[in-house]
Amino acid sequence: MTDSQVESAEQQKEVCTYDYGNSNVTEILGETTMPGSRIVSGLEFKTHNAKVFDFLTLLPEGYSLEKRQSLGTSFIDAVKKKLVHSEDRLVEGGFAPFFSQPGAFLELLHELGHIDSIENAIKARNPKSDQERESIAEELMKTEDERDAWAYAVKMLRKLRAEGINLEPELDSEAKIAQSVHLGGHRTLEKRKEPDFVPHKPSENVTKFLKENPNADWKQALNFVLDNYPQVVKGELVWILEGGAAVYLLNTARADNPDDVDIVTKSEPMAKDFTNTLTFNVDTTDLWCRFRRLEPSDRITNLLFSHHSPVDFMGRKVEVLDSVALTASKTIPWQGFAPQRQKDKTDIVLLSAPQDEVKELVTELTRK
Ligand SMILES: [Zn+2]
Repeated sequence: MTDSQVESAEQQKEVCTYDYGNSNVTEILGETTMPGSRIVSGLEFKTHNAKVFDFLTLLPEGYSLEKRQSLGTSFIDAVKKKLVHSEDRLVEGGFAPFFSQPGAFLELLHELGHIDSIENAIKARNPKSDQERESIAEELMKTEDERDAWAYAVKMLRKLRAEGINLEPELDSEAKIAQSVHLGGHRTLEKRKEPDFVPHKPSENVTKFLKENPNADWKQALNFVLDNYPQVVKGELVWILEGGAAVYLLNTARADNPDDVDIVTKSEPMAKDFTNTLTFNVDTTDLWCRFRRLEPSDRITNLLFSHHSPVDFMGRKVEVLDSVALTASKTIPWQGFAPQRQKDKTDIVLLSAPQDEVKELVTELTRK
């Protein structure tokens, strides 16, 4: 770069800051790609306790974020591999600047939720032109994919909250989340004339439980799952407890009380029953893989489901992911996050799994 090029790049840069609930957002706008469109070269989220999170780390490899004027909706540009956010968003009562009201980050997470299925469809059909690539992406934008992308967004939000990064501080109840998803769903489907969008809802019994126990702790939540979803059906293990609750049950010396119930299941209907909730995180093995950027396969499902151990929970037997698999899952980067966050380090020590077995399992899980 010559001096004048450096200068013009500097001139182009624009730093915007927004108050977002009890947090702050800093967006850095860079290069102009076409009139009204600029690359977002930084999107930093700073929580009330000064934890900083770089949103761009969530973008898959090869993708960038762009801000575009006057489109009125966020979307994935499959040809240019861009997550595009609009100047404004639909909120209760009209439109508002993008980062001015709750739900903006949930909307971005929703768009991220489309990328994998778009990329998979493109890979499967090997398009010869940009136009073909675009029409493959467009075909995918059906109601069902919309619902899945919202479910993905809520899961992602919940996972980040568990890391101390609360991207939506004002969406602090199941009801507010549901409302935001509902509005967003209407908005994304408006163009396609499907105004009857209904997001995936948790099943009736799950909804009833959440209504009756708005502050349910992990023990109540786990008892509910055990009461309603047998772990073993016809001799086959259907779901396994993982995450903080599993670590806690394997070693009650864990100082942090688990704040949620994480489950990996072979049953898609079971996972659907708990969709768009914050109290339960029930992932199919496919989604479990996707969050770790692994290619889902029967091989991985079988690997996971061969690593479990029975523990006692209030006099009931629960199968949890064993210490080797829990350690392995904490070693594999989650959505591109650098592994070994402090909480994970502490958990890995508590689990004290044989290192060679962990290494072997990580190799098996990440093998292409
Ligand atoms: Zn969408």
